[in-house]
Amino acid sequence: MANETHPQSATPGAAYARFHQRSLTDRDAFWSEQAALIDWHTPPTQVCDYSNPPFARWFVGGTTNLCHNAVDRHLATRGDQAALIFVSTETNQERTYTYSQLHAEVQRMAATLQSLGVVKGDRVLLYMPMIPEAAFAMLACVRIGALHSVVFGGFASVSLASRIDDAQPTVIVSADAGSRSGKVLPYKPLLDEAILLAAHKPAKVLMVDRGLATFTRVAGRDEDYATWREQHAGTTVPCEWVESTHPSYTLYTSGTTGKPKGVQRDTGGYAVALAASMRHIFCGNPGETYFSTSDIGWVVGHSYIIYAPLLTGMATLMYEGLPTRPDAAIWWSLVEKYKVTVMFSAPTAVRVLKKSDPAALSRHDLSTLRALFLAGEPLDEPTAQWISQSLGRPIIDNYWQTETGWPILTICNGVEPAPSKFGSPGKAVYGYDVKLFDENTGEELHGAGQKGVVAIEGPLPPGCMQTVWRDDARFVNTYWKSIPGRMVYSTFDWGIRDEDGYYFILGRTDDVINVAGHRLGTREIEESLSSHAAVAEVAVVGVADALKGQVAMAFVVLRDASRAEKPEDALKLEGEMMKVVDEQLGAVARPARVRFVAALPKTRSGKLLRRAIQAVCEGRDAGDLTTIEDPSALYQIRDLLAPR
Ligand code: ATP
Ligand code: MG
Repeated sequence: MANETHPQSATPGAAYARFHQRSLTDRDAFWSEQAALIDWHTPPTQVCDYSNPPFARWFVGGTTNLCHNAVDRHLATRGDQAALIFVSTETNQERTYTYSQLHAEVQRMAATLQSLGVVKGDRVLLYMPMIPEAAFAMLACVRIGALHSVVFGGFASVSLASRIDDAQPTVIVSADAGSRSGKVLPYKPLLDEAILLAAHKPAKVLMVDRGLATFTRVAGRDEDYATWREQHAGTTVPCEWVESTHPSYTLYTSGTTGKPKGVQRDTGGYAVALAASMRHIFCGNPGETYFSTSDIGWVVGHSYIIYAPLLTGMATLMYEGLPTRPDAAIWWSLVEKYKVTVMFSAPTAVRVLKKSDPAALSRHDLSTLRALFLAGEPLDEPTAQWISQSLGRPIIDNYWQTETGWPILTICNGVEPAPSKFGSPGKAVYGYDVKLFDENTGEELHGAGQKGVVAIEGPLPPGCMQTVWRDDARFVNTYWKSIPGRMVYSTFDWGIRDEDGYYFILGRTDDVINVAGHRLGTREIEESLSSHAAVAEVAVVGVADALKGQVAMAFVVLRDASRAEKPEDALKLEGEMMKVVDEQLGAVARPARVRFVAALPKTRSGKLLRRAIQAVCEGRDAGDLTTIEDPSALYQIRDLLAPR
């Protein structure tokens, strides 16, 4: 198949262009080839049903099972090979599960869920730290046709309660505690409070006791996993063959721009999309080790800690701990020890490493590692340069969303190797008909260098969201009706495309600043400011201004905070930074003020909460803050702006 679909060509980029083109013009044939990457119990009768746009149904008539494809199908060929490598620098545990062991554990968990009354179509909410039982529970759910709904373990009761009410789970699986930087974070009191707050009450709570924190049990409701696991030693639980379109899970977006949206994913399309992405984008092979530093509470954790590596027959490394503890070399020591070939992280994590010990990389043998993929937020050039020079390996930016489940823009090196361009995640990925539109007129922008909203022409490819959980109207109204006169999927990100087809993400549509009629992406200004050597991190927001409509305000975290301690030093630095923007983008983009702060407010997934900063700057209420990591960062900005 490789030679038919990846023809070699003398013109760089031509082979990929044909591959991408074919995925759109010969869509069904293209995806039916990709569908062969997974096992089907009954083969599909129709590749894509788009008779009711924007709802796409992929691989209609086919039946399959995600857990079968992630675990059972590998037993014959690699039962004794590593499937899940668990490393915790919080509890100093390290354990490898082979595919056979994973199979046994998943069945014990599945049998337990069945004993507690879970049946096909039920939701099981997971509120768990990064421990193997979380992976077992996710796989156990899809094994029996139940939907998992993982809620990031760092969320507190109010956020958790709203997700319990949305998912209405039969059972909640949780643990006594998580741990961060050696500090035990009890989960059970938060969970108990959330259940009290929620209108929906789960029938059962299944507790994994790690022995980190004592907790009280609610009689008749709370169950002990260790007891059930003993009882189900050797129990076999067959995979439930479900329709390709049967939902596999629900998962919430990060809540960067407002109230999180519950994304509903299918089964067959997701399995095919992930298996294909491992081949064409991540280039991971069976028997190798994949290391994604994300958390299972996020989409990257779902797709690239759990499903894609296992679907491929790889070992996946699940890491509980900080990137900087015991020291900033911990990730690289794991890469060396487990011969990691593909790694996936986020720019925010790389910036942390750069700040703490830039030399940590050189102490380890990273020769097995082929590439580091980064996603989640814009990758600024200094960070990209630093990590690529330190690693000596390609850094591959990839742009996508919780909604899509896998990359929209990147470099598909598995199809045809191509160079990266700094500041660009790459080209439109096969299957995605990416377009740019003028958000006011709805006009499609064809020319290179024109700025517009990044949108996707339907149908969304396999693996993308089916709908908003229990809210088809919200799916249609939120995503498909924002561009005048068009029924296209809006990403709500703003971008440009160059003459070679590379996209550059300029920021979220909400983050576009209009200074005296000039439209500027906050990202462009941030990128420019971060080229100043003193800058560790920066956030730019647009603030209402009587004269100019809006002005840019910049908040900077310095690499060395002492540089702005004295007011005269801060003023001097501010001037230098404004000059950088003047030189690179022009005076129109120059921030009205550059202020120095100790930290920037972020979501728990590490994304800048620009809307909250902007609201505070404009003296408004900061809005939904349930996903904020550290409110004090926002308070510092508020205090800084308060009139003295
Ligand atoms: P919400 O939708 O709830 O406001 P969110 O958009 O942050 O939250 P996610 O799905 O986690 O939720 O993040 C997707 C967004 O992250 C993208 O729309 C984009 O703004 C940003 N993003 C992801 N990857 C990249 C990247 N490689 N470069 C630039 N931006 C990126
Ligand atoms: Mg979003």
